Formats: sequence, C-alpha cells, structure tokens
Amino acid sequence: MGVMHKNKNNIPPKDDAPTGYLHSVESGAAVDGPGMRFVYFMSGCMFRCQYCHNPDTWKIGGGRKVTLDEALDELRPYRKFLKFAGGVTISGGEPLVQARFVGELLRRIKKDFDLHTALDTQGFLHASVDDAWFDAVDLVLLDIKHSDPEKYLKLTGQALQPTLDFAQRLARLQKKIGLRYVLVPGLTDDDDDILRLADFLAGLGPVLERVDVLPFHQLGAFKWKELGHDYPLEHTQPPSIEAIDHARSLFASKNLITR
Ligand code: SF4
Repeated sequence: MGVMHKNKNNIPPKDDAPTGYLHSVESGAAVDGPGMRFVYFMSGCMFRCQYCHNPDTWKIGGGRKVTLDEALDELRPYRKFLKFAGGVTISGGEPLVQARFVGELLRRIKKDFDLHTALDTQGFLHASVDDAWFDAVDLVLLDIKHSDPEKYLKLTGQALQPTLDFAQRLARLQKKIGLRYVLVPGLTDDDDDILRLADFLAGLGPVLERVDVLPFHQLGAFKWKELGHDYPLEHTQPPSIEAIDHARSLFASKNLITR
C-alpha cells in the first residue's frame, strides 16, 4: 500500500540552499540520539512507509521556509545546555531531500556551537552528496526498514539497495552508526528477515554502535486520516514485549549490541 501513496512528491526537488523547509523543531527530545537532543524535523520524504507516523512531513517544500540563520537562531538558546547534555539531531521526513541546506546547517552547528550532531536518515539519497558532506556528522541514525528487497519495496515504495550501499559507505568512512529497526507484527518480525539483516550489520564492523529495536505504534494513525490517506496498518497491533525481546535476541545472536 506504500506504493499506492507515491505521488508527485516522490521526486526530490532542486535544492535552494541556504533556504530550507522545516516541518518543526523539538527542544527536549530524549529518543533521537544520545542524551537530550534539539531536533530539526525537515520536510520532504520520497518514501511512503506503511508504518510512517509522520506522514505530515512527506510533502516536499511543505512546512516553514527558513534561512540558515533563522534555523540556527532556533537552536541558539539551548546551545550551552546541549553542549553537556546531548546535541542536535536532524530528522524528518528525510533530511537528505534537502541535502545542501542540511549539509550547511550541520557545518554551521559544528562551527558556531561545536555540538554533537546526529543525522536520522534512511539513506536512499546518499549518493547525492560527497564524502566530505559527512564530516560534520558525528553519528548516523540509520533506518533499515527490511532486509528483503521485495518486502522493502512493498513496505516503503522504494528500493533497498541504496540504503545497504550507504551503510557500507559509512563503514568505509568510519562513521558511527546507530541502527534503527521498527518491529511491526506481520511485516518486519520474521526471524529469517531479521537474521539476514543482523548478518549484514555484523559485517559492518565496529562503526555499528548499537541496534535499537523500535516497537511499531499507532500514535500517527490519526495523521493519515487527517491527510485523507488510507492507513494500511489500521488494524495492526503493536508487538508484544516478548516479540520485542525475541527480535533483540536475534540481533544479539550475531554479537550486536541491542536496546
Ligand atoms: S522514511 Fe521516515 S518519514 Fe519517510 S515515509 Fe518512511 S517513516 Fe515516514
């Protein structure tokens, strides 16, 4: 059903840095990277994940139009606190849709505030930026949504291979990775699929710091309805504690650190 939601917005736009489109910001997030995070949620995503809880970020060119300085001004009041408490995460949507703006934003966050930076991405567009783009990124929070190419396509509406290529590129760049895997009953909880992903991740070596198994939830369901989309997972329940523990044990069986 993810494929059904592909529309004119699935093509990345021409960048117009240093102006970007922000869906929103959050100043006290505790789940989007180490410590307390200031999070920029960038607008635009070319995926249509069936379990997306932020379909309101999909529209490319949606949200608030901001200059680089305006975006930095939103972070400025928190910089001293974040210096010792955590850092900044750029999320979305998919941040690489606005790669030029986000790249400049990351560089300025480093240069002006010297804060820890994390990039929350599914990596599909990584080939659009050069290696130096990642110099200002301390940690990549990488979403790999499935290990089976056909199921990945059905789940997201896009191809898996660019994301796998991106993970290997990050390993070559010695860039730290925090892997995120959303556990959805009936969609992403097959043992063989998880073990295939775990094998791939184990091959990345020490750059992979941790695998976070994130339980699917229904908190974004109302947004699909508000936006007039059919929500394909309307009747899917969150995974049980046992199922979450089991998925974590599969990753751990390949000597991966899980949470
Ligand atoms: S990549 Fe993220 S923002 Fe884009 S559709 Fe999937 S879950 Fe939603």
